[in-house]
Formats: sequence, structure tokens, C-alpha cells
Amino acid sequence: MLTHLAQAVYVVAAVLFILSLAGLSRQTSARRGVTLGMIGMVLALGATVMLAADQSERPVGVTIALIIAVLAIGAAIGAWRARSVEMTQMPELIAILHSFVGLAAVAVGFDSYLTERAHAGYGGSVHLVEVFLGILIGAVTFTGSIVAYLKLSAKMRSAPLTLPGRNWLNLGALVVCAGLLVWFVVDPANGLVALGIMTVIALLLGYHMVAAIGGGDMPVVVSMLNSYSGWAAAAAGFMLGNDLLIVTGALVGSSGAILSYIMCQAMNRSFVSVILGGFGSDGGAVAAGSADVQGEHREILADGVADLLRTAKSVIITPGYGMAVAKAQYPVADLVARLRAQGVEVRFGVHPVAGRLPGHMNVLLAEAKVPYDIVLEMDEINGDFADTDVVLVIGANDTVNPAALDDPGSPIAGMPVLEVWHAKHVIVFKRSMATGYAGVQNPLFFKENTQMLFGDAKDQVEKIVHAL
Ligand code: NDP
Repeated sequence: MLTHLAQAVYVVAAVLFILSLAGLSRQTSARRGVTLGMIGMVLALGATVMLAADQSERPVGVTIALIIAVLAIGAAIGAWRARSVEMTQMPELIAILHSFVGLAAVAVGFDSYLTERAHAGYGGSVHLVEVFLGILIGAVTFTGSIVAYLKLSAKMRSAPLTLPGRNWLNLGALVVCAGLLVWFVVDPANGLVALGIMTVIALLLGYHMVAAIGGGDMPVVVSMLNSYSGWAAAAAGFMLGNDLLIVTGALVGSSGAILSYIMCQAMNRSFVSVILGGFGSDGGAVAAGSADVQGEHREILADGVADLLRTAKSVIITPGYGMAVAKAQYPVADLVARLRAQGVEVRFGVHPVAGRLPGHMNVLLAEAKVPYDIVLEMDEINGDFADTDVVLVIGANDTVNPAALDDPGSPIAGMPVLEVWHAKHVIVFKRSMATGYAGVQNPLFFKENTQMLFGDAKDQVEKIVHAL
């Protein structure tokens, strides 16, 4: 009876997860999306407790006590991290969380095999394949996510690791795993050896695949690992015979894959090579040209920018990672409100990979209560720069780099960028002439119509607001 009820609740939870994803696709409905997802998760947890209580051989009280203890530990750590994490550390947090999903899939796989072995039936060939694939995907996700975490938190060099014949190494690893799968299914009694060797290979494969990716291609890795972690969860769902886990895993897996695809398009990278882990690694060219001085730059002070803004009719702000670091979104929102009150047309141009995670800038601007309708995407605003008086580039660098379009030899060649240099005046807010994430110099800084406003973005915007 409880099992049937739990299955029904699972269906409701699955529908809520789908509605949640739909809500998250737009800023205006994102809050509702999160709420629906939370309700779905509470229902899913409740139903899982019911199932465990109904099916477990242990006394119900012990099962429930165990689940509550584990939930309490997880919830306490999760709540603490969610409260303490800085917005700029979000991508690395997401990456490390994906590694837990991978590790869980590996643990579930081994547990499932050992449990079935005790019953001597091994659950049949299909189940054995599920176990094998679950552990394989989980192990790849585990080490891949750890490498992504280390790279994003600058605990490991972000330059790609380019071993000779690295694609052949990856392919070789998969071929060996395919052979081990056959052995595992044919001779499950000795399956632990095949599983053990495959797990070691998969751990190395995950490490190698992500280590081979560097510089500006890193954002795709985060969403790609998001996708992998979804498939790992789906595989765990098959192993446990848990329909909701299969549905949820498939939702995460496919939405992560779609996001990876959209981001690949935004960065002009090939989706297939991303999935194979061999992209963005043309011989470690990431730092090429980074130290080249390309001319004289001109400086401006906050008062000068205020003077320019006073006479401007149209202004576009292109925020980037530096705005997040400086936490400049609040004075920026203040500046926008003042300019709009004086009849200036102010809009934001947000690059799809500005900052360190997709939607990073949108979240910050929403946090500072900037109206959604003046925050436009790159494609919506790129044609308007030529008719714009002043562009304020606040802590953005790679996403406004003309070399991506003009210099075929640039490591970011082909990546669509915000074409800010077409505007009458461009003001770049940054602290020095240092390069951005991809480590390439930016010819924008040396253009005739560009002036540099050096200093912390928050301080400088506050000074401009003060001067106005
Ligand atoms: P960049 O990382 O290219 O540049 C940020 C700039 O901000 C730097 O030039 C830095 O210059 C400046 N800056 C840093 N701190 C401050 C501060 N306190 N005040 C003022 N300026 C500051 O940023 P973009 O957003 O343009 O580009 C994002 C890059 O990150 C892309 O290469 C993208 O591929 C990559 N990436 C994106 C992810 C995503 O999903 N969005 C995830 C991972 C990587 P200075 O030090 O001189 O101040």
C-alpha cells in the first residue's frame, strides 16, 4: 500500500521537477521554479522514506532514524555552504557537488553488485550492464568534477594538459572498458576484478578529459559535468529500480547537455569535441600573445566619466567577472537609476559566458534590483553599439575582446563577443592592464575611442555616482 502511494507521489514530484526547470528558464519565473523544485524534492524524500519503511528488512524505526540522521548531516552541511559561499565561488561549488553525485553512483554500483552477488543471481545481464555503466559514468564524473573544481578555484593551473596522442588514450581507455564489460557480464562471479580495473581506468579518464580542457573553454566543462552527473544519477536509478531517480537523472543529464550545446555555440566550440574532452587545447595556446603590448592606452578619472555621462543620451553597460569580484552591482544599480531619472536610455549587454558561470551577471543584477527589461542578451544588443554614446565595460575583458573576431590566431578566435568598440566612447573599468580569464591581451584597450578607468570597480562607480 505504502509502495503504491510512494509511486504516485514520485509521479507528482517528477512533474514538479519538469515545471521547475521550465520556470528556471526565465528570470521572471525563476523564483517560482526554485520553489516548485523544492516542493518536488520534499515530496520525493517523503516518498523515499515511505518506500524504505515498506520494503526494508530492518525495523521501520531504524530505517527512518538512519534516513533522518543522514538527511540532517547533509542538510546542515548544505545550508552552511549555501550561506557562506561567495557568488564568485559558485562554479567551483557546483563542480565539487557534481563530484558527489559521481561518487554516489560508484558506491551504489558496487553496493548493487555485491548485494545481488549475495543472492547468487546477479540480477541478470541487463542489471549487470547497468551496474557497469553506472560505475563508469560515476567515476568519470567524480574525478572530472574534482579537476574542474581545482581549476576553477585556481588550485591547479587552468592551462590544458596536452599529452601526446591524448584522443587515442581516451579512445583506448573506452575500448578496454568495453572489453571489461563483456568479461563482467560473461563471468559475473569474478566481476569484482573487472569492476575494479574499470573503476581505476574511469577515474583516470575523468581526470584526463577535464585536465585537457583549459582557459576560456572551462564554462562548458561545468555544464558538461552537470550533464554527466545527471546520467550517473539516472544509472543509479536503474540499478536501484527507482523511477524518480531515472527521471530526475535524465532531466539533469539532458538539460546539462542542452546548456553545454548552447554555450558551445556562444563560444564557437564544437559540441562533439567538448563531449570527448578534447577541445580548446590547440597545443596550449591559451597564454599566447598575453604579454604583447599593442600600443598606448588612455586613462580617464571618475569625474571625466561623469561628464561624459551627463551629455550622453544612450548608455550600455557590459558587466563581467570584475563586477562580481568588486561586488559593484549595487552602486551600478544606483548609477542606472540616476541616469534613467535624467532621461538617459540605459541598457545592459550580457554575454552568455560573462563572469564564471552561465547567468552569473543576471543573478547579480537581479540581486541589485535592476529591472529585467533593460538587461539584454548579446545577440539582442550587438547591433545597437554603433548608435550608443557611452559604453561602460565594468570588469569584463574576454567577452569584449575584438581579437576574437579580428585575429584568427587568437586562442579565443571565433568566440562571439560584445562589439562595444563601435560605440562613440568606451570606458573600461579595471584595476590594471592584466589579461582576463583566457589570458589573452585585449586590443580594445588601445583603441582611439577607449579610455581606461583604473581602480576597484565598486569604488569607481561610487565616485561617478557622487560626481553626478
Ligand atoms: P574576464 O575574466 O575576461 O575579465 C575580468 C576582468 O575583471 C579582468 O580583466 C580584471 O582586470 C577585472 N577585475 C577583476 N577584479 C576587479 C575589480 N575588483 N574591479 C575592477 N575590475 C576587476 O571577464 P569576462 O566576464 O569578460 O569573461 C569571462 C571569462 O571567463 C571568459 O573567458 C569565459 O570563457 C570564462 N569563464 C566563464 C564562465 C561562465 O560560465 N560564465 C565559467 C568559467 C570561465 P584587473 O585584474 O586588471 O582588475
